[in-house]
Amino acid sequence: MLTALERRRPLRRAREAKWRHVSRNIVFAGAAAATVNLLERPVVEPLARMVQRRRCGLLYMRRLPPPLHFMLAVVLLDYTLFVWHVLTHRIPWLWRFHVVHHVDRDLDASTALRFHAGELALSIPWRAMQIAAIGVPPDALHVWQNIVLLSILFHHSNVELPIDVERLLARFVVTPRLHGIHHSSVPEETNSNWSSGLTVWDSLHGTLRLDVPQQSITIGVAGYSTPADVTLAKSFALPFIAQPPT
Ligand SMILES: [Zn+2]
Repeated sequence: MLTALERRRPLRRAREAKWRHVSRNIVFAGAAAATVNLLERPVVEPLARMVQRRRCGLLYMRRLPPPLHFMLAVVLLDYTLFVWHVLTHRIPWLWRFHVVHHVDRDLDASTALRFHAGELALSIPWRAMQIAAIGVPPDALHVWQNIVLLSILFHHSNVELPIDVERLLARFVVTPRLHGIHHSSVPEETNSNWSSGLTVWDSLHGTLRLDVPQQSITIGVAGYSTPADVTLAKSFALPFIAQPPT
């Protein structure tokens, strides 16, 4: 649906041929799906069951009504994902992997699936900590995983929403224009709009940015400005080779 809308109402002008861009990102998505299914799932699923059985984590310290526990677990997962996202930019060896997501020269729904398998593998201990520290039961984990996937597909998409609709939505959730600013090649713009679900985290941290017109944004990362910099093979090798300063 998003791809059809991107065709009808594009928000930013594409720089690369769509099929080439999307097919490259689908290869990333395949490796990402394999990593999640083979490495992440076998760790986080039993962990969430154990957390529920043994009542570990912050939310199990009080006897909360189950719907409240569920809601707080989803909200706190969203906040701790915000923290993880900041860390992937701030810690150089994590940025080596996260940069693979950011070097995409066009931003669309397929970019939401373009994460290096190494970044996803490195996020497993963090995810385990989120579940154990917060006290996330399996049902809250599953709902959050689905919400995050839908949310990232939506806010990476290159869909031009009516401005009034987007202004209203952006008060609550991350929208395509907001996340477009995070994918700008200007570092001060990249260092904003870190949220993946609710925008309240950026508001609380003073990192919400709404004032950059999409037409003025060059998507990507300085140092990776040509198609030759972001070929499939190069992108996969990126974390393990010398990187230009970004
Ligand atoms: Zn980022």
